[in-house]
Amino acid sequence: MNQLDETSHNLIFEGKRLEPVSLDCNMVGFCSKCDLDLESLAYHSTESNWLVCAHCRNEHLILMRYDRQWNWQGDYDLEIGTEKVSVSSIAKEKLETVFTQAEIRDMLAYEQSAPYTRQNLYRARAKYEKFEKLFGIKIDV
Ligand SMILES: [Zn+2]
Repeated sequence: MNQLDETSHNLIFEGKRLEPVSLDCNMVGFCSKCDLDLESLAYHSTESNWLVCAHCRNEHLILMRYDRQWNWQGDYDLEIGTEKVSVSSIAKEKLETVFTQAEIRDMLAYEQSAPYTRQNLYRARAKYEKFEKLFGIKIDV
């Protein structure tokens, strides 16, 4: 599923992470589900395409793909979510408010495919939701 991050507006498209080139709000067509106007949320570009994330007032989401000359190429499903973040990219001070030293060590070890203690990782995973609520960061381990 293609995902637009609700805060950074980064787009995960076919497994690639794209930063927005514009957050302009334009009328970009009509919703195929309910016929209401579609408004753009964010524009992204790849080497060969423009990608436009849009929604209607009924919160139907759509990702439209165009070539570089703005010829329509196709529509894709889109969801809005919170981008998952690797443990090593999160500030230690933040991690330490929720996780123990042993849990942090083993989350990092797991991320780096190093040996880790399974129980520590299980305990850490049980706290991901709490961490997400506190910092709005979804951990991807
Ligand atoms: Zn709609």
